[in-house]
Amino acid sequence: MDTPRQAPFHLCEEPVQHWRIGPVTVARVVEGITEFSARMFLPELTEEQIDAAGAWAAPFFTEDKRRLLLSCHSFLVKTPDTTIVVDTCVGTHQPRSMQTDPTFLDRLSAVIPGGRDGVDAVVCTHLHFDHIGCNTIEVDGVLQPTFPNAQYLVAEPELAATLADDHMDVLDESIRPLLDAEVLYPVAPDHRIDPWTCLVPSPGHSPGHVCLSIETDTATAVITGDAVHSPLQFTYPSVSAEIADHDSAEATRTRERLVALLADTDTLVLGTHFPTPTAGHLRGGPLPWIEPVEGLDLVGPLRVPR
Ligand SMILES: [Zn+2]
Repeated sequence: MDTPRQAPFHLCEEPVQHWRIGPVTVARVVEGITEFSARMFLPELTEEQIDAAGAWAAPFFTEDKRRLLLSCHSFLVKTPDTTIVVDTCVGTHQPRSMQTDPTFLDRLSAVIPGGRDGVDAVVCTHLHFDHIGCNTIEVDGVLQPTFPNAQYLVAEPELAATLADDHMDVLDESIRPLLDAEVLYPVAPDHRIDPWTCLVPSPGHSPGHVCLSIETDTATAVITGDAVHSPLQFTYPSVSAEIADHDSAEATRTRERLVALLADTDTLVLGTHFPTPTAGHLRGGPLPWIEPVEGLDLVGPLRVPR
């Protein structure tokens, strides 16, 4: 996600919510919610299209529908074997064009069993600044991995593209300290993490963007990353976030593929920038839409269901 300066920012008042996917649980910890001009962020999306989409779309816009509400949050995924953080938000290392909440990392750590030490893997859906800011933490003036026992997983084409063109100015703060500590693992875009979780190639927003698929015997889910910024892009897959997408045509093909894969299935769609309701089932038809699935508020660290 690219961000204009001075975008209105709401400090986090969102509760930690969680969803159960068979033996896996997923929690959402919100860093903050930002408003963007809908015309600027999704320039091809018309007011008529927003109206035609229906009432379900209302929570994703301000009341006048002129501004898009985008949440920045991390998902914590706990499988029977593995504790995974998916994307680490903006963080506070240096002034960004986007405000952040300095309490975010503490709030995230509080719901991780074992705290920061308890994370086995960090999935970077892609290497934009609003997804990797808390990859590192400053200790005695030195940037170190925030999650010291974790493997940081990045799709190999994404890492190669960012090493060749650091256009979001992220390498020094969020990537090189991980390479120095030998905890950054370039992996295949369809890398399997454990029996329940694997990456899904979804290029377009960035060269090596991935989603995360959660598959169990009884339920499935997918974490979108920035393949879709707003659920309205399921309704209108050709609407690109032009200021943010690396390749709009490829991003459109990825969204069309996701709609074909997910529509009218039981797969829970968890949107990486969707404010509440963050999750739902994709319903098909001429104008696909998201039927919300409210998360349950979480008190205390996340546990796997018994
Ligand atoms: Zn983003």
